[in-house]
Amino acid sequence: MTEEGTAPPRPDIELAPAPAAEGGEGESARHGELTFIGTATVLLRFGGFTVLTDPNFLHSGEKADIGLGLRVRRLTEPAMQVRNLPPLDLLVLSHFHGDHFDRTAERDLPRDLPIVTEPHAGRILRRKGFERVVPLETWERQRFTRGERSCSVESLPGRHSPRLLGPVVPPVMGSLLEFADRGRTTLRVYVTGDTLYDERLGEIPARHPEIDLCVIHLGGTRLAGVLLTMDDAQGVRTLELVKPRVAVPVHFDDYAIFRSPLEKFLRRARDTGLSTRVRELRRGETWAFEAGNEEAA
Ligand SMILES: [Zn+2]
Ligand SMILES: [Zn+2]
Repeated sequence: MTEEGTAPPRPDIELAPAPAAEGGEGESARHGELTFIGTATVLLRFGGFTVLTDPNFLHSGEKADIGLGLRVRRLTEPAMQVRNLPPLDLLVLSHFHGDHFDRTAERDLPRDLPIVTEPHAGRILRRKGFERVVPLETWERQRFTRGERSCSVESLPGRHSPRLLGPVVPPVMGSLLEFADRGRTTLRVYVTGDTLYDERLGEIPARHPEIDLCVIHLGGTRLAGVLLTMDDAQGVRTLELVKPRVAVPVHFDDYAIFRSPLEKFLRRARDTGLSTRVRELRRGETWAFEAGNEEAA
């Protein structure tokens, strides 16, 4: 164990009972639904928990602020707005970039929504008035409980830029969402965040050898020629390293700076004979699955 892994465990956060309409504990402990909203915004419903990732609700044509005074125009329309979402239990935010947390999210998300993120984004969100921010250092974990079930978020390593650019690109975290029912793990989901392939990602399968589902941020984002997110080759390499059972690609065509098309990744995944099954989701599409039987469509 590294120093980072020895932080004392954080106390559990007990969530209020889910509204009856959402199923709550009545919901099967193994049933899941994943909805791709756009960019890296994904709605995951599992075992009665509802989790949103990286909320980007800007409309097509609107500009996202990505720091250094740079603004990039969105090319796609998100499948939903905040008002269309079911009641959320928590938000997981990988980093503070305008294509992951935008002014619409800032305006419309409830201030008492628990937000799990890395410390840099956490400080910004607290300044913006979000009251229940949970900042995690790498390998730190926060568990949310509802009755006999739980959803834990663990911060995983990620690196958004070559080391030289470290100071101008925000830090990023990957996350492991681990669901459990009566102490037994039912599903493990790895959300990569905007990261490049990096040797440190190798620690993820070392600690978590059985990942069911990976939401992988691709796109081969380039700014001034510098690669900032995984392209097709790095994406396939990461999946070969982590070996999730299923991968769902996101973050690949919403902005012009996303330069590596999804087709290239899909072709490379096929040609490589990847053991991970790639499940392509269109914006607005929901994939329903049973944990332990992810082949179910
Ligand atoms: Zn980013
Ligand atoms: Zn991004």
